[in-house]
Amino acid sequence: MIIVMQPDADEAAIAAVEAKIRAHGLDVHVSRGTERTLIGAVGDERVLDPEMFDPMPGVEKSMHIVKPYKLVAREWHKTNTVISAGGVAIGGSTVQVIAGPCSVETAPQMTAAADGVAAGGARLMRGGAFKPRTSPYTFQGKGLDGLKLLKDAAGRHRLPVVTELMDVRMLDAFLEHGVDVIQIGTRNMQNFDLLKAVGEVTTPVILKRGMSATISEWLMAGEYIAAGGNHNIIFCERGIRTFETAYRNVLDVTAIPVMKRETHLPVIVDPSHAGGKAWMVPALSLAAVAAGADGLLIEIHPNPKDAWCDADQALTPIEFAALMEQLRGVARAMGREL
Ligand code: PEP
Ligand code: MN
Repeated sequence: MIIVMQPDADEAAIAAVEAKIRAHGLDVHVSRGTERTLIGAVGDERVLDPEMFDPMPGVEKSMHIVKPYKLVAREWHKTNTVISAGGVAIGGSTVQVIAGPCSVETAPQMTAAADGVAAGGARLMRGGAFKPRTSPYTFQGKGLDGLKLLKDAAGRHRLPVVTELMDVRMLDAFLEHGVDVIQIGTRNMQNFDLLKAVGEVTTPVILKRGMSATISEWLMAGEYIAAGGNHNIIFCERGIRTFETAYRNVLDVTAIPVMKRETHLPVIVDPSHAGGKAWMVPALSLAAVAAGADGLLIEIHPNPKDAWCDADQALTPIEFAALMEQLRGVARAMGREL
């Protein structure tokens, strides 16, 4: 961190800044220029924050010189990390597709959905048992029964499962039920206690981008999980909020190459919650793979119009199979398989 002093800062002000840096265990390097003095903090500056220095007498501004995240940063880990999600490699040469309904509804619905996931060639199945709904009066998910239905349906095709954890009190139940990948949803990206809790287990985590989160905040949320010891993190871009109202969210395609540059961890894309309409899903999926995404998280439903949640954005199994064919061509053009 560098602290820039005001031109009229006196020796006492400089000494106070030096003392604060040393109190946090870092060394100090002072550079006295003709107009102003710069004070450098030497050591792991992540324990320091500009707000520690900016209010001090004589300080003009202070700034980090290294990125605030480390464990997730490519700067410290050049090669791509490949994560085993229930035995399926995410982040390697194969673009992995996770598909399934928004929410777990009934056994027949899950059986038909799992058949569609497998027939289309996806390697993992999704399904929400605990749903973060905008209204408390709408369907909230089947809860633990939903986890069982998801595991049973996916198990028939040996598909590992992905499902959202909203409440830290459910973590043990997720582990007992054999959830293969824990999803942290957009609304919980900065639920730091939840991030710390999933940081203490080894189960892979899909960390969705907060709908208004910057890239840096998203990476820092990943850093929370990694700092707890769980490095099995998959970032998922799912659309962000902008001024545009013509579709549910704006798929931030730009975030894909930026994230791939910033982190060694896999980056996948959820085109379903981005567009919010089934007809947009193919275009957004193809764009995501062309932009370098390591995988896709796609909502499908045996009868989309009857879906209990997100009916408008679910693909039918037939539409999904057709999309998988198209995706194969783009993946190949990118030098990858699907
Ligand atoms: C979901 O995947 O079902 C979901 C609720 O996603 P998001 O958190 O991105 O809205
Ligand atoms: Mn959904």
